[in-house]
Amino acid sequence: MTILDGKATSKAIREEIAVEVGKLKASGKKVPHLAAVIVGSDGASQTYVNAKVKDCRDVGFESTHIELPEETSEEDVLKQIEALNNDPEIDGYIVQLPLPKHIDEQRVLLAIDPAKDVDGFHPASVGKMVLGLDTFISATPWGIMELLKRYNVPTSGKNCVVIGRSNIVGRPMSILLSMPTEPGNCTVTLAHSRTKNLVELCYNADIVVAALGRPEFVTANMIKEGATVIDVGITRVKDETKKSGFALKGDVKFDEVAPKCAFITPVPGGVGPMTRAALMRNTLKAIDFKD
Ligand code: NAD
Repeated sequence: MTILDGKATSKAIREEIAVEVGKLKASGKKVPHLAAVIVGSDGASQTYVNAKVKDCRDVGFESTHIELPEETSEEDVLKQIEALNNDPEIDGYIVQLPLPKHIDEQRVLLAIDPAKDVDGFHPASVGKMVLGLDTFISATPWGIMELLKRYNVPTSGKNCVVIGRSNIVGRPMSILLSMPTEPGNCTVTLAHSRTKNLVELCYNADIVVAALGRPEFVTANMIKEGATVIDVGITRVKDETKKSGFALKGDVKFDEVAPKCAFITPVPGGVGPMTRAALMRNTLKAIDFKD
């Protein structure tokens, strides 16, 4: 059994990006500049944005952190988006989700200039991904594909079950795995909350991607010997033994599933760090999409 080490792989990717930034600097070119917009004071969102901004600084990018108060109107958020679209200094930016309830998330995401859409959530980015064109691919699916690639996990002709059909993880994941690429070329089943025979589907799969957000949902009886299991889930569960008061749990019961696997991602240290690396890769890529 091989552990797909997202932490080490993410570090390697960040080092590669830092080398690229060094080359840009050495040739007198502008380094990529990422902005992150956060509306409100949601604790988890603040932590994510701080981590993203820090990652960017570590690889040598410029970064700008824009904090707007919780009560900011939709119109004012859209004005901020327009300002970022028109700012030649900013190569890419993200709007941290979720947004406060009074703001229409789709309206905000649609307003982002696709050339600066480093989260890859804009319909133009999603459409290009579906067609196999060069674009920003959303962070978690890109991170998983890169992990499969760097560990040479066999995917061609394999049966794959993706559990969860969200726009940011499950659905794009199912599309990327079905593409005529390496990794890719899988026969994909996209399972969700209405799927009837999930245990059987998973048991017959060579690759299972669990992205449903239910701690330890995938158990050993659902996984066949020699399968590859990718655990996307991150749920905070109460744990008095931890200083923080909680532990992070994946969607897979790791201890009983891992011994059956050819490859498996741990939580933490698997998909999470790859997601962070992906944003930096997209920000570096944003330079190519500038006209
Ligand atoms: P979501 O809540 O938007 O979607 C969950 C999906 O799971 C839905 O499509 C639903 O149909 C499906 N589902 C729910 N219960 C099910 C069941 N019993 N059987 C089959 N399918 C079921 O979640 P999301 O945003 O896709 O995130 C999923 C998990 O991944 C969460 O734990 C989230 O925190 C985590 N996540 C991790 C990363 C990372 O970097 N590691 C990134 C994004 C999300």
